[in-house]
Amino acid sequence: MSDRLVPFLDLRPVDAADLEATQNAIRRVLERGWLVLGPELEAFELEFAEASGVKHAVGVGNGTDAIFLLLKVLGIGRGDEVITTPLSAAFTALAIVMTGARPVFVDVDPERLTIDPAAVSAAIGPATAAILPVHLYGQPADMPSLVAIAERHHLALVEDCCQAHLATCGGQPVGTFGAGGAFSFYPTKNLGAAGDAGAVCSGDADLTERVRRLRHGGQAARFEHRLAGVNSRLDELQAAILRLRLPSLCDSTNRRRALAARYRSALEAASVAIPPERDPGHVYHLFPVRSTERDRLRAHLYAAGIETLIHYPTSLSKQKAFADHYPAACPITDTVCAEVLSLPLNPRLTEADVTTVAKAVRSFPPRLSA
Ligand SMILES: *Cc1c(COP(=O)(O)O)cnc(C)c1O
Repeated sequence: MSDRLVPFLDLRPVDAADLEATQNAIRRVLERGWLVLGPELEAFELEFAEASGVKHAVGVGNGTDAIFLLLKVLGIGRGDEVITTPLSAAFTALAIVMTGARPVFVDVDPERLTIDPAAVSAAIGPATAAILPVHLYGQPADMPSLVAIAERHHLALVEDCCQAHLATCGGQPVGTFGAGGAFSFYPTKNLGAAGDAGAVCSGDADLTERVRRLRHGGQAARFEHRLAGVNSRLDELQAAILRLRLPSLCDSTNRRRALAARYRSALEAASVAIPPERDPGHVYHLFPVRSTERDRLRAHLYAAGIETLIHYPTSLSKQKAFADHYPAACPITDTVCAEVLSLPLNPRLTEADVTTVAKAVRSFPPRLSA
């Protein structure tokens, strides 16, 4: 997969036992011959809701659809505006566009790197229908402030939890602050399937029931299409694999936190800035650092055998797909995009790996200005 000394991520089976357990889960589904909307999904939905501290979960095709379906059941579409962050995967904003609504990008908090509540307030207008924060890198957005704004202006609040499985804000699970939360189980996420998968979580039974119908063509009963829905189901093979992986999510999350703490202390003397942890409910999907010499730092680490990635190189407000139709000035995001670099952080990383990476970062010579 990678010839790197420290790869960014390794998605191969952990060991022979992991491979065998996965094969057994797949065999169980194949031998049952029930491949879509069956007992594995039903069980996974209950187990994931329970683990996440939410009332209801509905499995869907992917995280993008989870956001789209949540907005859709809230009645958001053409003529509406949804305020969101330009510092995210493009899929967050694409899900808004899929509904027919307009994404309105507002800048991020310079430290937390999640949507700035003051910027949200300033962007609210007559067409605003919803606020869509992203719990970026696993750190929850400032939910108390966003909840207050949403309540004051009677706006829907939908959380993009695609990087924040098991995260909490002030001790409260993400996905429970507003109408609901959207999760992705893309293979690289904290809980990943062996392909695409996602879920909508909500405390509202009626809302989840509508998502359940919408994901399956809008059927209320077989061949009875009450609504023009979509086809976005989480299949039985993926559900069985997710059920196998879910029980270790809590441990792997704590492992991420421990490795992040180790990075923080090992990088104290380094020339990079580390975004502060604003909430202990942070689940460290990624471990970004910032450097004004980001590209040189990245090349330096690459030469040392360390693989890094950039999340994200471009503000969504500057992506071709959005810039013409949804222009916005987000200077803080532009600066972050020029400086941010994700170091390897995943549960398989060893303490020695963290030491290797930290040492290489510390040995990076920032150019001394004359
Ligand atoms: C991964 C991700 C998505 C999209 O999830 P998919 O399952 O790939 O559709 C949306 N938002 C964020 C923040 C993500 O990290």
